[in-house]
Amino acid sequence: MQDLRLEENRMREVTEFRNWLEGWTNRLQKAHPGCGLGSCAGPKGPWARFRRHRRGAFLQNVFYCQRECVETALMAQLARLHALPAAPPPSNRIPLGLLMVARGWLTHEQVVTALAAQQQARSGQIGDWFEKLGFATEQQVTSALGLQWGCPVTLSLDAASLMPAGPIPLAILEAFQMVPLQFSSATKTIYIAFGQRVDHAALYAIEKLLDYRTQPCVAGRKFVADELFRMRQQPRPRELEFGSMPDFAEIGRVSVSYMLRLGADEARLGRVGDFIWLRLRVGKSFTDLVFHAKSKPRGARNAASSTTRALLSSAVAR
Ligand SMILES: [Zn+2]
Repeated sequence: MQDLRLEENRMREVTEFRNWLEGWTNRLQKAHPGCGLGSCAGPKGPWARFRRHRRGAFLQNVFYCQRECVETALMAQLARLHALPAAPPPSNRIPLGLLMVARGWLTHEQVVTALAAQQQARSGQIGDWFEKLGFATEQQVTSALGLQWGCPVTLSLDAASLMPAGPIPLAILEAFQMVPLQFSSATKTIYIAFGQRVDHAALYAIEKLLDYRTQPCVAGRKFVADELFRMRQQPRPRELEFGSMPDFAEIGRVSVSYMLRLGADEARLGRVGDFIWLRLRVGKSFTDLVFHAKSKPRGARNAASSTTRALLSSAVAR
């Protein structure tokens, strides 16, 4: 009788231990998921992974168990991003000049004169020429840009309304002539002011990388340019810019070396325009690496003559 009770107690203990172990294994399975690489030769069981976990890192929200796996996955992602063709030009909008004529801010003759001046100089946006020739004020051009892009216009901006150190690398801000204004952590939204054209493809790429919504607006071109110049004078210790790297394998080598050196827990990457942006998280802080990727030439254009193209591009400019 005594033996039977002892045996029952032992069985209960064994069952309890087994349940405890299963519970922990399940919890570990969730906390330390398997490696995202199909060909991974690393540890398969959750307990083995737990011991090895500190060597791995997350890439695009997928866990890779060791340096070799992170490197392989990163190279594959970079090859894909690097091979992307240059973003197509933004969809046709009502030409700025036409819009300003319709509003009564310019005459048709002034638009023709400004277009001719722009073509002769082969530089500047058409809005710049309206201002330069004294046909319109910066405020009028900015308002017209807001109408052209269907975005609110921010006319009164001061340094206080700007983010102290935004999460978007300066090289990307400069390329798209944009500045981050504010961000709301409650709605996970960043408000971005554009000084020239609003690039929705860039905004989409930024949203995916930061996991934030973006809300564009239009601000004065000079304000944005001055603000970018001011930002360039300030140190940005957590941002690293690399020159043109035509070979994605080189970008991969540099990226992996920084991930290891910093002990990054997580990496996210994306292509914004001609840039490959790698955002590394170490604990609660972030380091951004920006590579200038040479974009592949876009496919042969349609048969429009060069003159027609030049006229079209200048009319649609801005
Ligand atoms: Zn692995």
